[in-house]
Amino acid sequence: MATYDYDLVTIGAGSGGVRASRIAASRYGAKVAIVENSRVGGTCVMRGCVPKKLLVYGAHFAEDFEDAAGYGWTLDGARHDWGALVENKETELKRLEGVYHRLLRDAGVTLLEGRGRIVDPHTVEVDGKTVTAGTILVAVGGWPTMPDIPGIEHAITSNEALDLPARPERITIVGGGYIAVEFAGIFNALGSTVTEVIRAGQILRGFDEDVRSTLAIEMEKKGIRIVRECQIRSIEKRDDGTLSLLSDCSEEMETDAVMYATGRAPNTASIGLEDVGVTLAPGGAVVVDQWNRSSVDSIYAIGDVTDRVNLTPVAIKEGMAFAATVFGKTPTPVDYGAIPSAVFSQPPIGTVGLTEAEARKQEPVDIYVSRFRPMKYTLSGRDEKTMMKLIVSRETDRVLGAHMVGVDAPEIIQGIGIAIKAGATKADFDATVGIHPTAAEEFVTMRDPLPDPSFEHTE
Ligand code: NDP
Repeated sequence: MATYDYDLVTIGAGSGGVRASRIAASRYGAKVAIVENSRVGGTCVMRGCVPKKLLVYGAHFAEDFEDAAGYGWTLDGARHDWGALVENKETELKRLEGVYHRLLRDAGVTLLEGRGRIVDPHTVEVDGKTVTAGTILVAVGGWPTMPDIPGIEHAITSNEALDLPARPERITIVGGGYIAVEFAGIFNALGSTVTEVIRAGQILRGFDEDVRSTLAIEMEKKGIRIVRECQIRSIEKRDDGTLSLLSDCSEEMETDAVMYATGRAPNTASIGLEDVGVTLAPGGAVVVDQWNRSSVDSIYAIGDVTDRVNLTPVAIKEGMAFAATVFGKTPTPVDYGAIPSAVFSQPPIGTVGLTEAEARKQEPVDIYVSRFRPMKYTLSGRDEKTMMKLIVSRETDRVLGAHMVGVDAPEIIQGIGIAIKAGATKADFDATVGIHPTAAEEFVTMRDPLPDPSFEHTE
């Protein structure tokens, strides 16, 4: 039998790669090395979920201070220091980086710093040195993509937006996805004039229509300008640093910074995958089977590089399933049903299960919607509405989807996600006692479905 330097070499020390490596080593006794050419922790911890959420917290104080007035507080002279926020955020990231290094060390995983390239199905080259492995796991994630238009070199992505030396007075954000709406909320709350340019008619394609329209209305109420059905054609930098954006919607826009959030692509260029026979999808994702195995028997892939469900907790589940399957001798597929997710926009979104449109394609459904002003905003007078929605199968009474836009939506939907995963019916929701006074109790007190649109048309 061939002997290798390691049982497993993982390329990419992000959330998925680190979890797979730790579990393979500590739970199943494998000899493991992990290759990383940047900071241990990966996109979520270093350039994504974590720093983004810290900025969302920082930004939300602006509204909290305003709301405090209705409760009798006087807060004169509140000012924000962008530099302090970025610096404190960086301190926290360094702490987390240290935690990740310690986790790897404690699990007995060897860290190989450098860029990994696969040279044959059992060999990885790391900055000129080669290591061999029984199994190679590709967990290299993704990277922001930008369209190739004149002047695109003047644009930034979320990577740079997290570390800007100064907050721009005006920022234009291109794209209508998760990242675009989250950063629009951050910069707007901190005082920038924000314009979001989307090529479609509405933000957040793929989300429930009530979620999309509710968030767009709330964002616009907060002063974010959403320019719809518009594409930027070129970016020109003037001598004074101002950026001039030419678009196909007969409008020339001026701004101080332009950020593209137009999607992310798998990081598969030049790591040798195709040379050793690994099949890639047209967008560059590694094609894998239900065991996360690529077209080459000894090479597996998990996380964003496979472009399945690009969320950190999913990459972690895939990493655990990979380790159990390959090193724990327990074939473990990942269950992709009813994955809850959130968008940390302002107000935030929480969602789990089918959208109304998806459910209607599948079967007859009843729709329950509740819109209200959160109690906290009664005294403060803030004009922000919460929207909650349940989609219920008429045949089985099962709740097929739950969606919320409003304060604490991600925290609330996590719990609702357990109920939906467990197959709860609307009767189970109704039988649950609400916690009063909360917004969450609305999910167990929605009594009347909306009139069925198909009946309305025939009347
Ligand atoms: P998304 O795929 O969510 O959105 C991309 C947006 O860019 C869409 O609005 C799309 O428009 C638009 N777009 C694409 N190409 C162009 C173009 N050439 N010109 C103009 N607009 C364009 O990507 P993100 O970058 O926002 O996020 C990437 C992934 O990261 C997400 O899929 C998500 O899985 C993950 N993520 C998750 C978060 C969370 O869970 N909270 C937070 C942030 C990211 P159209 O709709 O017309 O196609």
